[in-house]
Amino acid sequence: MYRAKKLGRNNTQFYEPAMNEEARERLRIEGALRSALERQEFVLHYQPQVDLRSGRVVGMEALLRWQHPELGMVAPHRFIGLAEETGLIVEIGAWVLRTACAQARGWIDDGHGQLRIAVNLSPRQFGEPQLLSAIAEVLRDTGLPPSCLDIELTEGLFMHDVAQAVELLHKLKALGLALSIDDFGTGYSSFSYLRHFPIDVLKIDRSFVSDIGEDGEAAIVVSIIALAHNLKLRVIAEGVETAGQLDYLRRHGCDEIQGYYFSPPLPAADFEQLLRQGRDLRTSLAQA
Ligand code: C2E
Ligand code: MG
Ligand code: MG
Repeated sequence: MYRAKKLGRNNTQFYEPAMNEEARERLRIEGALRSALERQEFVLHYQPQVDLRSGRVVGMEALLRWQHPELGMVAPHRFIGLAEETGLIVEIGAWVLRTACAQARGWIDDGHGQLRIAVNLSPRQFGEPQLLSAIAEVLRDTGLPPSCLDIELTEGLFMHDVAQAVELLHKLKALGLALSIDDFGTGYSSFSYLRHFPIDVLKIDRSFVSDIGEDGEAAIVVSIIALAHNLKLRVIAEGVETAGQLDYLRRHGCDEIQGYYFSPPLPAADFEQLLRQGRDLRTSLAQA
């Protein structure tokens, strides 16, 4: 049944022994996931977002990591889907938001400037009636300026009830935070929502950024940058891995980058060190 549902419902799937293995793995992870929060097995890593004009770190994306005593470091793609299906993502997401905002406030207090923290929001969280008050409460409790919080959404969120989504997004914006569309171009890209939704940032998915080759054109990247700027949105390229990609993005007017070229996601202590050293694009170019 789960397999049929996973493959888009309304179809028939036959049992195979390998599914038992899959189901067992699922159960194991699900069980472990239930106690992970309590056992404090989650940590956040932070990936710098760098402004291409100044070369400076202007913000960071909080990325969830699960350190399980036996399974080791479990990557998000192995458990976020399951957390979403079971509803556990609501509680986990609340922890992520609070931890990330508190951390950002700490770094701002330490004099590292008005850093922006980006937090991923899952579809299930988006559907929670408490979402708005929960975010407002975290902002109040942590004292993070709302303009320093950036909520990342995916296009899939808007598919079901557009009118309701527009209303909720406006309420979120009224709190003073910024809204980004993550993995832009990979989902259900409808241009009409871009017109109606109060969005601030498009994040170009890394699959398009990786199209930027040695001397080739990356038509989709260039088009997304133009689209964003025509709509008065900022644009961030994800998954920037090479100097060539960076140069191309800069020449085409991209605003910010995020990717292994500058830095992978880092544990808080390492991110803090990067801030203290004042690392920017120029210093990392000098190192390369
Ligand atoms: P995302 O939000 O699109 O995050 C970007 C992913 O790209 C991260 O994977 C990051 O480590 C990876 N990445 C960054 N730079 C590069 C690069 O230069 N090259 C390559 N190949 N990859 C790069 P990660 O951390 O494994 O996260 C995967 C996804 O899991 C995220 O995609 C996001 O959708 C989800 N996720 C992570 N943390 C959270 C969370 O706290 N809540 C929710 N709802 N989802 C989360
Ligand atoms: Mg993201
Ligand atoms: Mg992304």
